[in-house]
Amino acid sequence: MVTGESIWRAIVLYGANSATYKFAFGATLLEVAATGRHHVTLEELAPRYAELLCQALKRQPRQSTASSSKFLDACRGFNAGELDRDTLHRRTVQLGFSNVIDAFPQLAGSQAPVRYYEDQRKNSANPGLLLRDELSELAQSAHAQDLDAETAARWRLVETAWATGISDAVLTPSLVYDSDTQHLVLQTKHRRKNVTGVVAALSGYQDGRCAYCNQPMPTPGPIVEHVLPWKLLTRSWKGPDVDAIWNLVLSCEPCNRAKWDRAPHETWMPWLEQRNNDLIESRHPLREVLMVQTGATAAIRHATLRLAYQRATESLPAVWTPPTGAHVS
Ligand SMILES: [Zn+2]
Repeated sequence: MVTGESIWRAIVLYGANSATYKFAFGATLLEVAATGRHHVTLEELAPRYAELLCQALKRQPRQSTASSSKFLDACRGFNAGELDRDTLHRRTVQLGFSNVIDAFPQLAGSQAPVRYYEDQRKNSANPGLLLRDELSELAQSAHAQDLDAETAARWRLVETAWATGISDAVLTPSLVYDSDTQHLVLQTKHRRKNVTGVVAALSGYQDGRCAYCNQPMPTPGPIVEHVLPWKLLTRSWKGPDVDAIWNLVLSCEPCNRAKWDRAPHETWMPWLEQRNNDLIESRHPLREVLMVQTGATAAIRHATLRLAYQRATESLPAVWTPPTGAHVS
């Protein structure tokens, strides 16, 4: 379903970034719209927008892939005490919005199906942005705070990727999709997550059958199973977050009990790889998350999985062989 919220999430959380302006811009827009405003000028947006970018530059000097940016230079100047606040705000109005107002509503190169504002910068009587109801509803929804937290998490991830040169795929082992709330949740601690939300997300793919024995799963319903054991996280685990969707399947109770804290036999693992590839290729909502967690191409995902399996079985050598009739190759 295309909703104002899912499109907003797609704009802010997914997609390529050449600068982090959209995070600051999105956060500022939500804050303004939350106050019930329907029109805002660049002069009104500038202080908060610039503040967010100044804070970000203190965290991480690289906020753009471009070699230079006059606007970011102004923010740096303010941080260094070389520019006063009024000058920063004036420069922000002049320089800071030039691309982001046009670029923000773009999704994969075309206009997003939901519009949040109308660009009225050229309206001489009342210049600025007309904030549409879609934005007000989003800003005043119960999920607005989550969007804010997700934006902040995504922003830090992009910064980290640029600063380290490591792709975000490696850095985002713990971005999980909660299908109950349809949220991406960034997990920073090795704490067991509430994984019940993945049932809805995965049950369609498994067609009500156990991922291991391939038998129909009886009520009261499937169990969310960590393929590579969750217990790894209590050890000095160096692999990807095993408490994430790429490593979760639905299983019947007997298989869950029999498997316990063991990885499945390696002959079963291609099923998981195929499952993840199928979800990605079918443009499932989990597509982006799975790619971020395990790799953008099938070859990278294959390598990620193999390495994770190798490390898991080094740490916990005992493996469990699923029953006959199972998905083994
Ligand atoms: Zn089973």
